[in-house]
Amino acid sequence: MSEKILIVEDEEKIARFIELELTHEGYEISKALNGREGLEMAENGHFDLLLLDIMLPELSGLEVLRRIRKHSSIPIIMLTARDAISDKVSGLDMGADDYITKPFAIEELLARIRVALKRKPADSIYQNNVLEAGMLSLDTDSHQVTYDGEPIELTNREFNLLQVLLENKSIVLSRDTLLERVWGYDYMGETNVVDVYVYYLRSKIDDVVGEKIIETVRGVGYVIK
Ligand code: CA
Repeated sequence: MSEKILIVEDEEKIARFIELELTHEGYEISKALNGREGLEMAENGHFDLLLLDIMLPELSGLEVLRRIRKHSSIPIIMLTARDAISDKVSGLDMGADDYITKPFAIEELLARIRVALKRKPADSIYQNNVLEAGMLSLDTDSHQVTYDGEPIELTNREFNLLQVLLENKSIVLSRDTLLERVWGYDYMGETNVVDVYVYYLRSKIDDVVGEKIIETVRGVGYVIK
């Protein structure tokens, strides 16, 4: 069965171009031309991935992203303008999986789509997809992290990072490995993004847990024991 992608983009030419290319690649495409329509379709339809423009009429792409992330971990790739760095950072902070800068080569978009789809949370047919470290627990089905039953709110990226660390408990993972597993092999940014997100995770988890869950192994990387 072909994977379903929703394109939310107000520039009709771009939306049409992406639609043609992705249809050609075998994806099933739906389109929305403003933020409100996009949000409605995303919430009522069953999509495998969202391509979400940031500059949208009626409801901005970031606002659409924020509302969808309240209850869904669907892979989302943001479409941004070349110089809108703060938009990219906000998008990633708010749980976008990736972003691509317009104008882009269609091959790059296709590669990012494949990576984002691969990172999709495990199939819901697995009933008990729970990873644990002490009383800290991460449920890949419900996309929830709890400590002693109390929920801890994480962004999508923080969640993915914690998931990879928990899946490899007691194994020290290098920054490069974490970068590849969480951000994808084609990530072009700074490698210190891993340190930044470990810092975010610690600030959200350690206070609740009362000890350091993620250990730094100097010169090597990070581990959860
Ligand atoms: Ca736009």
